Amino acid sequence: MDLDALYQDIILDHYRHPRNQGEVADAEVLADEENPNCGDRIRLTLTLKDGRVETLRYDCRGCAISVASASMMSEYALGKSAETARAGAGDFIRALRGELPFDDERFEDLAALQGVSQYPMRIKCATMCWHALLKALAARAG
Ligand code: ZN
Repeated sequence: MDLDALYQDIILDHYRHPRNQGEVADAEVLADEENPNCGDRIRLTLTLKDGRVETLRYDCRGCAISVASASMMSEYALGKSAETARAGAGDFIRALRGELPFDDERFEDLAALQGVSQYPMRIKCATMCWHALLKALAARAG
């Protein structure tokens, strides 16, 4: 597989136009995560209402894969119950690590990132934002 094949149109589109980027003024939780190997970092904030992710904003600085993944993660998590978002994050991370088959239907646009699983150095770029999401949800639950 050619490395260029990683950068599908959908990934480049999310990288150039990240969805939901910014800061939530009244955020109940905040989580920081970084990927020193690549220099990626993310700060994520979210609010829950009636057990659902009501708002989610992030500031992600890094490579195209990390920014695109954060953008797609935000679209995936928004409106979902904390439980569903947590399970999705865990399964997405496992799928990228090759521990689970990738469920295209469940992850929709995120399926564009599955090629990353063939590049161990890039897996953390794609999973960083999901670790931040898990951290934020855990903080909220605690
Ligand atoms: Zn990266």
